[in-house]
Amino acid sequence: MKCQKCGKEIKNEFAFCQYCGSPTSPTQEFMIVTTPSIPGYKIKKVLGVVTGLTPRTRGVLGKFVASFQSMLGGEVTAFTTELEKARIEAMDRIKDKAIAQGANAITGLDLETSDLGLQAGVTVISATGTAVIVEPER
Ligand SMILES: [Zn+2]
Repeated sequence: MKCQKCGKEIKNEFAFCQYCGSPTSPTQEFMIVTTPSIPGYKIKKVLGVVTGLTPRTRGVLGKFVASFQSMLGGEVTAFTTELEKARIEAMDRIKDKAIAQGANAITGLDLETSDLGLQAGVTVISATGTAVIVEPER
């Protein structure tokens, strides 16, 4: 099977191109959920834990409100602050990693901020989840 976008050879079972990330079928949508499972889908294969890190300097985080759930509702474009961008970036990174492994979804997503210490003045936003292959339940 060849990717329709970049023309590279991709494995048949892959729902997304592992090179450019484009879906192999027009109806395919990459799903990211915080729950261990996705309603209406069953997990066909667990590929492993993926992590995406985005470092940010301190100060940006003053406005941090951990309302990540609301972000999953679909209003992603409404988020414009630095930290929100950092979170989206961290999620993009785990999504890319998951796609590179052949996943079509991430379950059990967890977003954390960790401090590298006073001297560093850097906070790292990390997204961790499980890369899985899901298929619709019949
Ligand atoms: Zn491609």
